[in-house]
Amino acid sequence: MTDIMTPAQRHRCMSHIRSRNTKLELKVRQWLWNHGYRYRLCVKGVPGKPDIVMRKYRTAIFVNGCFWHGHDIQVIGNREQGSVENSACCKIPKTNREFWINKILRNQERDQQNYQILQDNGWQVIVLWECQLKANLLEDTMRQVEVALQDNYLRTFSNKAKTYILVDEENLPMAAEDNIEYN
Ligand SMILES: [Zn+2]
Repeated sequence: MTDIMTPAQRHRCMSHIRSRNTKLELKVRQWLWNHGYRYRLCVKGVPGKPDIVMRKYRTAIFVNGCFWHGHDIQVIGNREQGSVENSACCKIPKTNREFWINKILRNQERDQQNYQILQDNGWQVIVLWECQLKANLLEDTMRQVEVALQDNYLRTFSNKAKTYILVDEENLPMAAEDNIEYN
């Protein structure tokens, strides 16, 4: 069997696959695909490691497990001395609780950094949670995603249009004349 990947590529791809919450992600991907949306999974040049990339809508989608990403948990007080309260979908074990809290809070920090990097680069970010993807909620959740995608598409499009007008209209920026110093 020939192997077309370099060891580094293979490592990257394996760790990519391992780190995915594939079952959840699959639900979202299947819905999108069945409704005519196309997406990419391993995209070079897109920062923040999103699970699903939809270039046409300039949208990055994250599919988060409620436990690992600490959905809706409340941090009371500061991180060192405070405590963390469970939420309906994220119950942190009593045994080794400190360990799990640290792990989950670190994941949350990393999530925020990833969302920020994407937003700084002009991407819209959609975060989907495990509990929103249960069978009875999936359709509603994905309809909301659909609305957000259309919105993101229009926003990207109107930004382009604005740039175009600014570049093209030679007569418009008269006010700028006032700022020019002649001496
Ligand atoms: Zn949840």
